[in-house]
Amino acid sequence: KPGMTIKELAETMGIRVVDALKSLIKMGEEPKTIQDELTIDIAELLVLEYGMHVKLPEGSESMKLDLRAPVVTIMGHVDHGKTTLLDYLRSTSVAAGEVGGITQSIAAFEVHRPKLGKICFIDTPGHQAFSSMRERGAKATDIIVLVIAAEDGVMPQTIEVIDHARAAQVPIIIAVNKCDLPGADPNMIYSQLMEHGVTVEPFGGDVQTVNISALRGQGIDKLEEAILLLAEMMDLRAPRDGPAEGFIIESRKDKALGPVASCVITLGALRVGDVVVAGADWGRVKVLRDAKGESVKFVGPSSVAEVVGFRSQPSAGQELFVVENDSKAESYTEKFGSRKGSMKRIQSSKQEEHQGELME
Ligand code: GDP
Ligand code: MG
Repeated sequence: KPGMTIKELAETMGIRVVDALKSLIKMGEEPKTIQDELTIDIAELLVLEYGMHVKLPEGSESMKLDLRAPVVTIMGHVDHGKTTLLDYLRSTSVAAGEVGGITQSIAAFEVHRPKLGKICFIDTPGHQAFSSMRERGAKATDIIVLVIAAEDGVMPQTIEVIDHARAAQVPIIIAVNKCDLPGADPNMIYSQLMEHGVTVEPFGGDVQTVNISALRGQGIDKLEEAILLLAEMMDLRAPRDGPAEGFIIESRKDKALGPVASCVITLGALRVGDVVVAGADWGRVKVLRDAKGESVKFVGPSSVAEVVGFRSQPSAGQELFVVENDSKAESYTEKFGSRKGSMKRIQSSKQEEHQGELME
């Protein structure tokens, strides 16, 4: 919007004003106050920096916001049971039991609980692409389930997850795993968590905790209920219609189909025929599959989708969005290329600075 101030744009984008200012300074601008008006060019660059596309003001105002399902990531220390838990959850997901269900293998799936609702799980622990996504200020997840093995307790990577969740302002739910083992002592874990500033409900705090055995599938229903309860309190909303946004989970090259991208749609609806952009790659959606692996005409928010139609293979962790036409897509991907170039320069000059510091 012409004449938008830094503050207004940051608020529209859902980023902190200080981050917007920092980015502007990085781009070589000299903002004086947060009420400074931005030119369209600079505003667009700032939006691209955060991996979003510029929304038309009238579109964003008329978009109706509907409740949407939570997008959840499972994190925790190595060997605490993340894979086992994901495998169990996946076995109860919609794709389970469907012979040849393509989406079964992808790193995201949906779990539907009758009457309670849907949960979209993404399986990306420690994925480099996603940490760079987080650095850009984009959120891949609404809720983090922090798995802690009962017999092992809070470990270095457990603390990393707590710190990360805090920095990203993503709420956590504790899953005390391996409760089938003799000597499992959740209380011990609660005390350890308290030392790291996490107070669980049994200790009077507001962080939910659930005792589970991922191996035996015990307590998983309670975990899902905890997720859905938290999601309800978070009042997660997104427009159900309008141009889709989301991010790429992973992509592969199919001999017959060409690039196939697995993604999570976060808002709007992705439709067959849409022109999609993801970083430096774009294409027109030819085939769209839902979480069940079924060919569909569209998918809505908080959904897993598989997209056939990209001209080149998009990278994991890249934000995806729909544009009006091919030429728009081309100009976005070009801009992305030049932006990447300037980011690289910034990074290398940062490194030089750093080396300078080390030498002092
Ligand atoms: P990850 O590194 O966090 O992905 O951990 P894994 O899921 O690979 O689990 C590490 C080990 O712990 C494996 O040998 C699992 O079989 C075992 N494990 C996972 N969950 C449970 C559980 O609930 N109970 C028991 N007894 N073992 C478990
Ligand atoms: Mg694992």
